Amino acid sequence: MTANQEYSQETRLVQLGVGFDDRTGAISTPIHTSATYRHPGVGESTGYDYTRSGNPTRKVLEEGLAELEGGARALAFSSGMAALTTFFLHFSQGDHLVVSEDLYGGTYRVLDQIFANFGLTVTYVDTTQTAAVAAAVTDRTRALLVETPGNPLLGIADLAGLGELCRQRGLLFAVDNTFLSPVLQRPFEFGADVVIYSATKYLGGHNDLCAGILVAREAALGERLYFLQNSTGPILPPFDCWLLLRSLKTLTLRIERHCHNALLVARWLEQHPKVTDVYYPGLEKHPGHELSCRQAKGFGGMLSFRVDSETTARTTLKRLALISFAESLGGVESLMTLPAIQTHGDIPAAERLRLGICERLLRLSVGTESAGDIIADLEQALA
Ligand SMILES: *Cc1c(COP(=O)(O)O)cnc(C)c1O
Repeated sequence: MTANQEYSQETRLVQLGVGFDDRTGAISTPIHTSATYRHPGVGESTGYDYTRSGNPTRKVLEEGLAELEGGARALAFSSGMAALTTFFLHFSQGDHLVVSEDLYGGTYRVLDQIFANFGLTVTYVDTTQTAAVAAAVTDRTRALLVETPGNPLLGIADLAGLGELCRQRGLLFAVDNTFLSPVLQRPFEFGADVVIYSATKYLGGHNDLCAGILVAREAALGERLYFLQNSTGPILPPFDCWLLLRSLKTLTLRIERHCHNALLVARWLEQHPKVTDVYYPGLEKHPGHELSCRQAKGFGGMLSFRVDSETTARTTLKRLALISFAESLGGVESLMTLPAIQTHGDIPAAERLRLGICERLLRLSVGTESAGDIIADLEQALA
């Protein structure tokens, strides 16, 4: 017996993989490294033939994630970008996508510099405005890809409204749910067809793993995405599947602590004289606050803030002691970045500025250290 739907999400996360290995009773899922599998006879299979096509450790992870998300099928990839790339491979020359403009820079890069060469066209819109999304849809539009909260400005898109729009216009609705994780936001409940994760972030949670996940709500789309993954090969290796399984067991605990710390840090930053703006959906004055309360169980651990000058931004990064000046997010260790130069460096400068990603904007992934220590570090760095 494996943990199933009857249990709460928290319990299912902790119990991932327990009961999988009946032969030994192992609590921790075994790592299956075999590249290939012996067939019992011609036309017979144990369910495993070749590790790109299927691996027992990966299967535990994928089945667990599909169940947690409430989808028909989950697939584990070697990175978030591998998951996104595989999703984009679903489309054909001449197809058009509508995509959030407040977006992970790498997603923009793969669409703009690679898929554009294959005739996939994209319109970037402010997906916090459902009407703007509707206006961008053409006869050739096949899908909408939304990140909410947005990156790095934490804008909130109305998932129910966008889900309804996609249903009416016959569009595939994909949500990159990396910032909140299934603990806080469940896009399938709002009509999403595909949920995407960079598992390098909260799902992995320890800044020690690179992985990506696609979850399909319907079996047919899951089968199609599996076909694309198996054909092109960007699978998550068995050791990393095991590490991700282990990480997921503490996801609920970690997310609770990230949310708790981020709200304290956001409130503290708000009153700092050198901070001109704080972007965190948990603050009542954030324009997406009420929407966020309706569609998510919490506000997550990501926030951005603008300081009074580019010099302040640069000296702050230099003086950080506890918080690391590093890209990425979602790990237990707090990290700070300068999006204009790092994560969003591939977005053309004029476009970046239009979006508000200037060199006074800092993005903070609030870790699970003591909130007091994080705030003390910010205090001395901003002084
Ligand atoms: C990091 C990130 C990605 C890319 O994932 P990798 O694991 O780095 O390939 C995609 N979307 C979002 C929102 C991200 O933060």
